[in-house]
This record gives sequence, C-alpha cells and structure tokens, in this order.
Amino acid sequence: MTNKEFAEFLLPDVEHDWEYYENLYPERDLPEGAIVTRYAPSPTGLPHMGNLLSGFMAYCFAKQSNGVYFLRIEDTDTERTVENGVSKILDIMKDFDITFDEGMINDTDEVGSYGPYMQSKRKDIYQAYARKLIEEDKAYPSFASKEELDEIREFQESTKQRLGYYGRYAKDRHMTKEEAISRINNGEKFVIRMKSPGDFNKSIIINDLIKGKIEMPENDIDEVIIKKDGLPTYHFAHAIDDHLMKTTHVIRGDEWVSSTAKHLQIFDVLGFKHVKYAHLAPLLKNDNGTKRKLSKRKDPETGLVYYIEQGIPVEAVKLYLATIINSNFEAWLDANPGSDISDFKFDFKKVGSSGGAIYDMEKLTNISKNYLSRLKATEVYDRVLNWANSYDKDFASLISKYKDYTISILNIEREQKKPRKDFAKYSDVSNSIWYMYDELFDNKELSYDFKNITDKEEIKNILSTYIDKYYDEADDKETWFNKIKSLCDLLGYASDMKAYKANPDNFKGNVADVSTVIRVALTTSSMTPDLYELLKLIGKERIIKRFNRFN
Ligand code: GLU
Repeated sequence: MTNKEFAEFLLPDVEHDWEYYENLYPERDLPEGAIVTRYAPSPTGLPHMGNLLSGFMAYCFAKQSNGVYFLRIEDTDTERTVENGVSKILDIMKDFDITFDEGMINDTDEVGSYGPYMQSKRKDIYQAYARKLIEEDKAYPSFASKEELDEIREFQESTKQRLGYYGRYAKDRHMTKEEAISRINNGEKFVIRMKSPGDFNKSIIINDLIKGKIEMPENDIDEVIIKKDGLPTYHFAHAIDDHLMKTTHVIRGDEWVSSTAKHLQIFDVLGFKHVKYAHLAPLLKNDNGTKRKLSKRKDPETGLVYYIEQGIPVEAVKLYLATIINSNFEAWLDANPGSDISDFKFDFKKVGSSGGAIYDMEKLTNISKNYLSRLKATEVYDRVLNWANSYDKDFASLISKYKDYTISILNIEREQKKPRKDFAKYSDVSNSIWYMYDELFDNKELSYDFKNITDKEEIKNILSTYIDKYYDEADDKETWFNKIKSLCDLLGYASDMKAYKANPDNFKGNVADVSTVIRVALTTSSMTPDLYELLKLIGKERIIKRFNRFN
C-alpha cells in the first residue's frame, strides 16, 4: 500500500486535498505593515477580563495598521462547548464596542472570505493537511490507549525523565502499515500524531514581541494532531487556521509560550511561513500586599458582565486597559485630554514584559470619574437612563418623568475647567442625587448630620431666618452669597474665614457651618454640588417644605 493509499484509508472522508485549500484563500491585499490578527476564543463560557485585554489589544493593533481583526471560534473541545457560546461572546464584545471585520456573526453565520471561521466546520481542511503529512511519512496513526500512556507517564515520573510521547516512548511511530490497518479493521480507535523532527538537545529561539528572545529546547514530542473524534488539537488547528487565514500576529495568553516550539515546528513541517507571537502575561491582583492571578471565583471584576451591570462605562474600561497595554498611554492621554484611543499608536515594545500587570479597580474608578466628568449632561443622562432601564427601573421612570430637571442637576459644575467627579458608574448617580426628587425625599425617614451645629433650636433659627429674611429666588450668585454672609453676621457666625481663624471664640461658628446647615436640611448630605445651583433647582416652595421638617 502506498503512503497515499494509507492516508486515504486512515482519513477516508476528505472531500478536498490540501492544495485545493492552499489555492482557495488568496493573499490579502493590505497596506505594508498591516497586522492581521484574531480573537480565537473557545465557546466554553463567558470571556473574562484577561480575554478582553488580549482581544482589545489585538483589535487596537489591527485597526491602527489598517489590518484585519477577525473572530475565530475554537470549538474542537466538543464536551466543553456551551449552548449559544458564540452569541454570548459576541454580545459581550459588542457591549465593549469591539467589532470584527470577519468571522462569526452569530451562532451559525459568518462573514469573510477566509472561513469557515468555526473550527468544527473545518474538519475537512485539517484532515486534508493531516493526509498530506501521512503521505509524506511525517505523521502516523497511534493506538496508545489511556492506560499505556499513563504507564509511560508513571515510568517517566518515577525515573525523573521528561514526560511525553517521544523518542523510545513513541512506539507507534515504527508500526507497519499492515499492523495499523489490521488494528483499525478490528475496530481500534486511533489518533494521528506528527513525527517530530526535533532534537531536545538543541534549542530554538522565539522572538516574542512582548517577552523578547525566549530560548527553549526543540520539541521532540510526537504531538497528537488529529484526535480520535477526527477533530484537530489546538496546536494543529492553530497552525493551519492562522496560515490559511493569513494571520500575521498571534496575540495570546502566555500559558501558550511553552507550546510555541511545538507550534513553530508544525508550521515548519507543513511548510508554512511563521506568524509573529505576542504572549501576554495574566492580570494580577494585589491581595493584601501579595500578588496573585485575578480570579474568576474570588474577584467579581474579572467577569465582564459585572461592568455592564454596575454601569461602569465601557470606554473607561478600555482607557484603563490601554494604560495596561502601553505604559506611556496615560501620559499621552493627560497631554491630549478627551482624545480617542484610536489616535494613540500602540507599540509591542512598550507592553510590560516583566510579568502580569496589576489590575487596579481604584485606578479604573478614577479613569471612569474623569471620563464621565467630561461628557455633556445630556449624554450622561442618556447613558444613565439606558442603564437604569435594565438595572434600576424605579430610577429610570423617575428620571424619565423629570428629564430636563435631571439634566440640569447633572449639569451642575460640569462644563468647566475642573468639572465635578461625582460618578464613576451609572449606578452612582441615583445614590448621589436621589435627594433632588421629592418622590424619594418627602415622607421618608431621613437622617441628618449638621456637622458642627448640633442644637436643634439653632438649626431651626438659621433655616427660618434664612428663608424669611435672605432668600430670594431672583438673586444672582454673588448677591446670594452676600446674603448668606449677612445671615452669618446677624446670627453671630463669622462671614469671613480669616476673621474666624484669628478669633474663633468671638463667633458661634463660621459661614461654612451655616451653609452646611442649609445644605444638609435640603439634601441630608454635606457633600453636594454647588448649593446655589441646588437652591435654584429645588425652588422656594420645595425649600420651605424641606425646612419645615425642622419646625
Ligand atoms: N482558543 C485558544 C484559547 O482560548 C486561543 C489561543 C490563541 O489565541 O491562539 O486559549
């Protein structure tokens, strides 16, 4: 039997040969330096922050080089594949506004000329290339059972040798075609392994775009390329897909670094041009002074749905990720406030190479506050309403009912050089301005803390004197403030802070104490936006109603 016949016997259901596939996909017509890269998740669950980081990074590099970013679904582990896995991945990427030029667009459909983009639909392709290797005597069927492999491993462990199916352990490499055929005819299952041409005593150098030169021994393990179910392993599929899809750069988690010698060997044996690799270390968390990997189980911020539910703007998350990808991004953003990430040129050389970045929610919170503080009030309103429609329906109906009023509240101290930074997420808004709505304020048990002034009669006196003698809806800000000062003078509080500091005993308190009383009586909070603006928005009738709580 010829090798060709043997290959056909082993893999009988192949429609096209490998040359057909080589010719099917043309070179991409792209500008010089364009990066073609991909997001290649397994549809086994929801993507997490580490996936978003590498996915977003790949997206940025493809976009800035006028390249291509595609979505390939790696669903060869059929047991772990979840229902609607693709649309779940697409939905969350869409939430983060990360889009693909090609690839799957839902659980079944795709766009692009380099597909299928779902590995389970590429069985014919992988088998065509496996046939090629068998024909060239570079691959063979292997029958080693789980028990035999366990035995090899136990022996290797007990004699302190490297683990794996290599050298003298790779017995099936030497099996005759006749024996293989008769075992298959007897119903035995088999995998296809590639004959490794590697020598463990020699080393190869991988030029990783992030980690730099990595030296490691050549691979000498006869790796499985086609599993018993006829589907490829990740290693084999990676080489074939990225070759046929004309990928230039593979940006992936650094758990794959140790397999890279194996991957490049598969590329070589198949006669493929190498891709460039950028291996990204996992995100870390500072846990009481010790660094550990960000954990899906322990850290809610690892899941991406968390950001959507909390209403953390996805733009802020991406700005934060950009600071992780390139450490000079932050300085650039400070120098160009309000710029778009797409205006920044990312550089592989500026990705931290000394281990994983610390994922710091506090930093993200600050970025988010800055981001939200620069939006127009109407924009904040739209976003909060959109979020609240899903996650806080009562607040959504309240702010829909009082749309213009709410926008005015959100507009206080906004469009100015140093805008207020009250909100890091949409869910902060109701917690911070609830008191502006009578529905949440009137007839409610509320607790007030007037800070320095504790005497009830004195509080009552300040409020009634203010409303009776000094409050006028028509006052401009300066007049209003002068009247607050007059109120202080009348009641024995220092209207001038310097005078107060020089002789505190001469006064009952100062202008800050008096305005705190007014502020707290109106809102229960001593930390609010500008009091003058609040008074204007609440208006006389409602001010009196709120002050009357202290009568
Ligand atoms: N499916 C692989 C994973 O989820 C993809 C790695 C790659 O990008 O090649 O880890």
